[in-house]
Amino acid sequence: MSCEELLRALNEVIDDASALALYTEFADHLSGCNPCQLVVDNVRKTIQLYKSGEPYPMPAGFQDRFRDALRAKWQARFPNSKPQS
Ligand SMILES: [Zn+2]
Repeated sequence: MSCEELLRALNEVIDDASALALYTEFADHLSGCNPCQLVVDNVRKTIQLYKSGEPYPMPAGFQDRFRDALRAKWQARFPNSKPQS
């Protein structure tokens, strides 16, 4: 199992409980792959934060920086698109 296969499988597991049959192969890869362990750990923390249901205040200026970063990514990916104002 490669990293790409694990990440694809991770999406399937999240989307479809029947894909839990992949679990054994998944666990095998994960036990020996630190980058994928970090990804899974991040997903787990995200789910925990989401489940706690507490709104988390954004740091000052985050919204502007986030919007600018998204806009830059969008422009890099779709250079011919018109900027949104
Ligand atoms: Zn991996």
